[in-house]
Amino acid sequence: SRIQELQDAAEDNKGSGPTGTGIIWNFDNLPISRYTLEGLRAAKYTRLTAIQRAALPSTLAGHDVLGAAKTGSGKTLAFLVPAVEKLYRLKWGKLDGLGALIISPTRELAMQIFDELRKVGAKHDLSAGLLIGGKNVKEEQGRINAMNILVCTPGRLLQHMDETPGFDASALQLLVLDEADRILDMGFSASVNAIIENLPRQRQTMLFSATQTKSVKDLARLSLKDPTYISVHAEA
Ligand code: ADP
Ligand code: MG
Repeated sequence: SRIQELQDAAEDNKGSGPTGTGIIWNFDNLPISRYTLEGLRAAKYTRLTAIQRAALPSTLAGHDVLGAAKTGSGKTLAFLVPAVEKLYRLKWGKLDGLGALIISPTRELAMQIFDELRKVGAKHDLSAGLLIGGKNVKEEQGRINAMNILVCTPGRLLQHMDETPGFDASALQLLVLDEADRILDMGFSASVNAIIENLPRQRQTMLFSATQTKSVKDLARLSLKDPTYISVHAEA
């Protein structure tokens, strides 16, 4: 909208970097690899949204985060960029197995995340898979152990943890619980707890939610370590 454009212009005038406010306004100014930048650029992402400005400095620095911002504010890149960067910095490769796990409440949302991951990860040498049910379990099982990043719905992931021979999350570096409020509203609380019990404790965890309910805070207490709390209510 016109108002958004004016706000954006005002924000631009605040500048960035050493002479500005210290806030990072553009992907170009983040401490990220040129591979990620190239992927973002090809997807025409240049400026950060409010939640991305608030979350990325913490998440890229490896901190656990509880991030709340309304639907449509750009939460996906706030966790996909640090996920890809973390594995890149660790020189993660084919033989390193599962490094990052992203849990989403619905198949539809998981597919959207996967599409964004394709863009952010386009120039990286990481493998990624989508585990959302509706497809043949056996077919998923064949490829699952070669994946560095998995985007999953909770029920399907738990099924693979229970049934897929050799499923190994022991090297996991990073967990994302996206749309945590919806995950809980949909009755996946027990599944998510069971999943978390199967993961290494030494990891980075990001929990994103549109709302901050009591059950989201309970899940945060269970899954996050010394988290940074980020809540953005203003226009993204
Ligand atoms: P949320 O998860 O908060 O609901 P999404 O991550 O799905 O929001 O992003 C909403 C929309 O905004 C998507 O279409 C996405 O492509 C777009 N978007 C996200 N970040 C940016 C950005 N930095 N610049 C431009 N568009 C963006
Ligand atoms: Mg989202």
